[in-house]
Amino acid sequence: IGTNSLDERCNQILRNMEASLTARDRVGIQDFVLLDAYTSESAFLDNLRKRFHENLIYTYIGTLLVSVNPYKELDIYSKKQMDTYMGVNFFELPPHIYALADNVFRTMQSEFNNHFILISGESGAGKTEASKKILQFYAVSCPSTKLLNNVRDRLLLSNPVLEAFGNAKTLKNDNSSRFGKYMDIQFDHQGGAVGGHILSYLLEKSRVVHQNHGERNFHIFYQLVEGGEEDLLRWLGLERNCQHYSYLVQGGCAKVSSINDKSDWRMVQKALSVIEFNESDIEHLFGIIASVLHLGNIKFVADVRGYASLNNNQEMHWVSKLLGIPAQVLQQGLTHRKIEAKAEEVFSPFSVDHAVYARDALAKAIYGRTFNWLVNKINESLANKDSSRKTVIGLLDIYGFEVFNVNSFEQFCINYCNEKLQQLFIQLTLKSEQEEYEMEGIEWEPVPYFNNKIICDLVEEKHRGIISLLDEECLRPGEATDLTLLEKMEETIGGHPHFVTHKLADQKTRKTLERGDFRLLHYAGEVTYCVVGFLDKNNDLLYRNGKEVMRQSKNAIIKHCFPSTEPDSKRRPETVVTQFKSSLVGLTEILMSKEPWYVRCIKPNEAKQPGRFDDVLVRHQVKYLGLMEHLRVRRAGFAYRRKYDIFLQRYKPLCPDTWPNWKGTAAEGVRCLIKHLGYKPDEYKMGRSKIFIRHPRTLFATEDAFQV
Ligand code: ATP
Ligand code: MG
Repeated sequence: IGTNSLDERCNQILRNMEASLTARDRVGIQDFVLLDAYTSESAFLDNLRKRFHENLIYTYIGTLLVSVNPYKELDIYSKKQMDTYMGVNFFELPPHIYALADNVFRTMQSEFNNHFILISGESGAGKTEASKKILQFYAVSCPSTKLLNNVRDRLLLSNPVLEAFGNAKTLKNDNSSRFGKYMDIQFDHQGGAVGGHILSYLLEKSRVVHQNHGERNFHIFYQLVEGGEEDLLRWLGLERNCQHYSYLVQGGCAKVSSINDKSDWRMVQKALSVIEFNESDIEHLFGIIASVLHLGNIKFVADVRGYASLNNNQEMHWVSKLLGIPAQVLQQGLTHRKIEAKAEEVFSPFSVDHAVYARDALAKAIYGRTFNWLVNKINESLANKDSSRKTVIGLLDIYGFEVFNVNSFEQFCINYCNEKLQQLFIQLTLKSEQEEYEMEGIEWEPVPYFNNKIICDLVEEKHRGIISLLDEECLRPGEATDLTLLEKMEETIGGHPHFVTHKLADQKTRKTLERGDFRLLHYAGEVTYCVVGFLDKNNDLLYRNGKEVMRQSKNAIIKHCFPSTEPDSKRRPETVVTQFKSSLVGLTEILMSKEPWYVRCIKPNEAKQPGRFDDVLVRHQVKYLGLMEHLRVRRAGFAYRRKYDIFLQRYKPLCPDTWPNWKGTAAEGVRCLIKHLGYKPDEYKMGRSKIFIRHPRTLFATEDAFQV
């Protein structure tokens, strides 16, 4: 906190609050905590709507930022705006994502500890945009030197690369994140951004080989075909025509009006060179992307014995050339499976269906592993070699909750992940906050809230959760099918209030369910999952000789992604969902060790259009995001709390009775101190071990007195 102008600042905050109260008819209230009719959801919604129509997309609930996607460019992200928000107290200016970013940064600087910003909301709500704005703010506002500029550029440019390879058009969002991303930005003592590290979570790689109607494959494929230079395309054996590639056309929308693949391609090229990809990396990388497209075009026909044989060798030869794998080896790998019979190796030919399956499995494995390689490569370039202690701000931007007409294993994983993040939010805000008041013996009217732990348990409980049941079925190859999984779920969790199937449903609900469906009542709404493909996608098997074939590759990236040291063990690798679950446990641990901040993103309409605020849709999000509950806890709660000894230690010079040494208990000392300072009874509460202070301004004033 600054020195001389604190009173002035507090007054400014008050003036601001008052100004906002008088201007409320036009622009609403900028902090929901100040809303009179705070318990009413309608008042909350009115305020949000009013502000939205004035292009005021940000509103606070205390220090939590609510953001409503404007679906249009607003002139609020200029350098000038950044300057305005830099180093200014949180409540002194209208709500902005920059204010939050600045506040996190300054808290980190003054307390020298680690923070994270959890950005949540459903698909298309604006999470990725928000995370980019925050990163841009740090890039501009942090102290810079030539060296740091280098890091800054890489941090910024890691985004277009990862989005090209990890985002895609879905029905919900033209730039939907199909992987989860957690990024640490590391700062040195002076506040310079000195490095970064990215963790990625479960890429939706099934998209490589299949896209639903109205959706696309990952952007990078279209960028390459549309934007790649003539020479490059010739070298890769590609035609400049997305329609030519079966992996690109299943969704029937290779061209999207909101996306410029050509200019995005140029951006990615620039980014790759800044992140220090050398020519050979880039050559190998695009060799892989092209070979996936060629793979997709490989067709099989049945030979006289009914086994798969290649229809046209041309595409296969391109794959062979680009991946540096002998054509015969590749051909054998695509049409046969190696089995070990006693001491012998035998090649058993595939049926056509089997061959298509094996080809797709290979394409997914190649793309998925290349994506991980890419993340590692970016991390190498962001790594800070200096070992001095740093503090970090973590940014979490993950795929949002999504519901389609048909939902599969991918939606199950994505929505499970969102349940976990909601659980974290509840634990860190609603639960722990209220538990602390209780523990400290502060009189408190509990705020009821829906705890989604019951759904997390339904999914992940040992032995009887959906994940366990799914894994169990995956361990019974040949016997288990998607339908036996469904039966097992019906037997084990049939009575659960958040789970229903066709068989279990009452008559009315049954009409809305197919036989192969199960429905989960998620915190954010009902989702009906089609069980078909669950076992297969969870197993994610790549035939062993698929791996062996890849190991012969001369392409450096593929060599790296399919190392010869990878065990071929007969033991089954962990299933996809179990790996995902462990990675989410890891993520929770990372987050729990840091100070949390929240951005809650709201999607105003399903049509992706500016100026449209769909009340029903927004009300639903306000509900499930727990915003009303958060507001109630905030309003009734206390902004600051300090252990008695820490509070006394810091402020004891302000009172002649406590200075230099207080003989009694710390709590008595604090009581004496605040009496001297003239705290009013409604401004604070004395807990068992801490003092709780209701408003920031009380503490500002005390700090001020202290500084004088
Ligand atoms: P997903 O979970 O699918 O990844 P998301 O929450 O990350 O969704 P974004 O990609 O951030 O959603 O936003 C979707 C689109 O909405 C953006 O491509 C952009 O067009 C628009 N948008 C989001 N936030 C803003 C903003 N602050 N200003 C202007 N447009 C925005
Ligand atoms: Mg996103």
